[in-house]
Amino acid sequence: MGYRCLLLGRVEFVLGKKGLQMYCPFCGHSETKVTDSRLVAEGNQVRRRRECLACGERFTSYETAELLMPRVIKSNGNREPFNEEKLRLGLMRALEKRPVSLEGVESVITRIKRALRATGEPEIKSLELGELVMAELRELDEVAYVRFASVYRSFQDIHEFKKEIDSMGEKDDQLPHEGGLDTSNE
Ligand SMILES: [Zn+2]
Repeated sequence: MGYRCLLLGRVEFVLGKKGLQMYCPFCGHSETKVTDSRLVAEGNQVRRRRECLACGERFTSYETAELLMPRVIKSNGNREPFNEEKLRLGLMRALEKRPVSLEGVESVITRIKRALRATGEPEIKSLELGELVMAELRELDEVAYVRFASVYRSFQDIHEFKKEIDSMGEKDDQLPHEGGLDTSNE
């Protein structure tokens, strides 16, 4: 297995005591330096060029999405794994009775996950995740955006939120019309 990996120029992660560890395929050393990092496979993988700190050999690692999703730091300091299902439920709740297809929801989820991975950070504040979701929702459907933001920001800066609502009123013509339930044929 190790030999095959070497031929392909790929290495595997090993789950060790310190979490996910990668070993140099040439000498087995556990410390490597990342020299280049880019998203591949439509953002589902990160390809990293690495250099072994012991023998100096260079190799490439392909790290998959699941391993790379940052953990979410909650406001009380607790960490939890990124939960895609929870995100989907939050979006669906905000989009209830809105003329947005499931495909639209899924593409938002894909973009959010991609943005999270692209940070390259092992952890992200739940606040930042919320901002990311709001930015996406705002593009998708402004009514859903307001619903989500009002729940999400209820314990945060009320004044700032009001300012934002007011500024949205100024470009009123872009707001979808509320009450047009017949436009939804989902
Ligand atoms: Zn090495």
